Amino acid sequence: MSGTPKCREAILEIKPYVPGKPIEEVQRELGIQDVIKMASNENPLGPSPDAVLALREAVERVHLYPDGNCYYLKEALAARYGVSAENIIIGNGTDEILKLLAEAYINPGDEIVVADPTFSEYEFAAQVMAGRAVKVPCQNFRHDLKAMAAAITPRTRLVFVCNPNNPTGTIVSQKEVASFLDKVPPEVIVVFDEAYSEYVTAEDYPDTLAYIKEGRPNVIVLHTFSKIYGLAGLRVGYGLAAPEIIRAVNRVREPFNVNLLAQVAALAALKDEFHVAKSQEVNARGKEFLYGAFSALGLKFVPTEANFIFVDVGRDSREIFQKLLRKGVIVRTGDIFGYPNYLRITIGTRRQNERLIQSLKEILAGD
Ligand SMILES: *Cc1c(COP(=O)(O)O)cnc(C)c1O
Repeated sequence: MSGTPKCREAILEIKPYVPGKPIEEVQRELGIQDVIKMASNENPLGPSPDAVLALREAVERVHLYPDGNCYYLKEALAARYGVSAENIIIGNGTDEILKLLAEAYINPGDEIVVADPTFSEYEFAAQVMAGRAVKVPCQNFRHDLKAMAAAITPRTRLVFVCNPNNPTGTIVSQKEVASFLDKVPPEVIVVFDEAYSEYVTAEDYPDTLAYIKEGRPNVIVLHTFSKIYGLAGLRVGYGLAAPEIIRAVNRVREPFNVNLLAQVAALAALKDEFHVAKSQEVNARGKEFLYGAFSALGLKFVPTEANFIFVDVGRDSREIFQKLLRKGVIVRTGDIFGYPNYLRITIGTRRQNERLIQSLKEILAGD
């Protein structure tokens, strides 16, 4: 007997995901205690206090399997959006739903269409299934929906519209989406990833739910509890789509994919509208503060509809990233998105924003 186990050829193409650096890692590696993370677009206010209370109570029940159907969470979401539970899939984070979509729809050699730059998980999910991502450059940091429609071929299965886009924070409008959907063949699924929709203030932000309600067979809208709802550590996301898409995705879903604590906390967080409103307010104020501060530092940035800002630091941003780390501030470098001079910075609390700006000031002054 000879030889070694060989993994599937297709997965050798996959580049490992580069996550935001965890706070504990920076504390460990640099020996500093006071570390703030403005790297992964988490809610700087933390979770809803109602979610925390619900979790405390639910902890006593973790010897039981969770409800594999997420009944109560689905009912609450169905009521919120005015759809039926058959229109809803809940995932172990939106990330899981992206993978389930790929498992359900992508055969080896199939294509997905994505913007460039955008969230890397779309390409990852396709690659796991031996599919290929066709990348369409953004124009002015925005999805070029005309070019994306033109990039659809007979091999295309899914098109991803990240709206607002991560890492740029830009959106595409209702009108652009409407004329885009007119061009997409009915057998191609359009995935609207709206992880940051709660932060959007633009009036022309598309009402994609209307497409689900009118029964479009080829649209899915994704949301998450990881961002404004402050539950990134628990992993809950959901998708809204025609029942046929939901049924296909359910075929490849693990029976207990969303854990018991995650379901309980998401339900409580969903009902806490006060926490969401407060989070929106903190974000809006932080955005104005950072716009002013970046401008005062002579730094260009992409105006954002989300809770993060893509900032041009005018030099290799990895250098600035390292110096910020040493000052206890974690951000994200743009090189992984193909923008080596950019940082992606999550809007924080007033104190966090001030600390970031003070640190940046010192670094740019040669400190
Ligand atoms: C953070 C994020 C998500 C959410 O992922 P989860 O798996 O739900 O934590 C989805 N899409 C984009 C574009 C994101 O930035």
